[in-house]
Amino acid sequence: MTKRAFNFNAGPAALPLEVLQQAQEQLVDYEGAGMSIMEMSHRSEIYENVNGGTQSLLRELFGIPSNYKILFLQGGASTQFAMIPMNLLKAGQVGSYVMTGSWADKAIKEAKLIGETAVAATSEADKFNRIPNISDIQIPANSAYLHVTSNETIEGTQYQQFPVTGAVPLIADMSSDILSRPIDVSKFGMIYAGAQKNLGPSGVTIVIVREDLVEESPKSIPTMLRYDTHVKNNSLYNTPPSFSVYLVNLMLKWVQSRGGVAAIEQYNRDKTKLIYDTIDQSGGFYRGFADAGSRSAMNITFRIQTEELEKQFALESEQHGFIGLKGHRSVGGLRASTYNAVPLESCKALAEFMSDFQKRNG
Ligand code: PMP
Repeated sequence: MTKRAFNFNAGPAALPLEVLQQAQEQLVDYEGAGMSIMEMSHRSEIYENVNGGTQSLLRELFGIPSNYKILFLQGGASTQFAMIPMNLLKAGQVGSYVMTGSWADKAIKEAKLIGETAVAATSEADKFNRIPNISDIQIPANSAYLHVTSNETIEGTQYQQFPVTGAVPLIADMSSDILSRPIDVSKFGMIYAGAQKNLGPSGVTIVIVREDLVEESPKSIPTMLRYDTHVKNNSLYNTPPSFSVYLVNLMLKWVQSRGGVAAIEQYNRDKTKLIYDTIDQSGGFYRGFADAGSRSAMNITFRIQTEELEKQFALESEQHGFIGLKGHRSVGGLRASTYNAVPLESCKALAEFMSDFQKRNG
């Protein structure tokens, strides 16, 4: 039997065993083609079907209206940090950002290289342990967009509701929580995400964008960095990351087989409850980093009373088959990433390990 680790990696992250097995089955001969999808022309009918089929399935599962384009790009979510202001931020406008932590900070830093920016709200005074109150977000009237990071992967905070931005397009970096819960896509101008947490492997970035925003990019932008290039060419302007897109396709079919996004959300809730309850019922032995109202259902960040104990926890947990529990090097502590494909059984095992660790060290 295949031995699988309890994989709590922050990204790239766990994929469902069924998806890996199907990829394995199809690896050397994709649907009778006599070759792997990796070896095939991206202009072939088979690949065009993968490209189109993946878009349709994502549209259906995530409820993406017909006036939105779906793009498969490269360069990671990090390239979107630059492409967004390059394409959408015009002279006389500001790119507005809600500062929620490490990834929001990276996004705004890139935008500053391109044009004027504004911080619409920040939780820096609370060390980014919460999402700012929606009512405290101030959107300058000349904003080209308001950018939010729906889930801060490192701090472990997540928006429970999104600001209403009126005529200003709302743009969300959903790299670490896309497809983990139902979202009203029509409230957003653009949603983007690197695939390597909830959607598949690394190598492809999903962009969902309202078509009126990307009709024509400014003339001065290089071809590959223009949204209109990829819209006009249906994400096939140059060689796409075909194997990654194919795996996204398998991953979407897996979500569908689990009952869709609403069912996945419930499953995620059940998973995280096991671990948050263990933290909350530990009498202070474990301390959650995020404020209760901003807790992430994807990245559970917590501390133990001393750094010694945290080190010991990281070490012992690994010996017990738990992978990826050390917090990000920039904030320390511990973090369990419980993306869509992480099974309930892994979370149950972790909760039990945590209780046991407390008994031995509390
Ligand atoms: N945004 C968020 C919220 C992330 O978690 C990450 C990756 N951890 C990124 C952006 C950067 O993504 P990429 O590595 O695909 O550039």
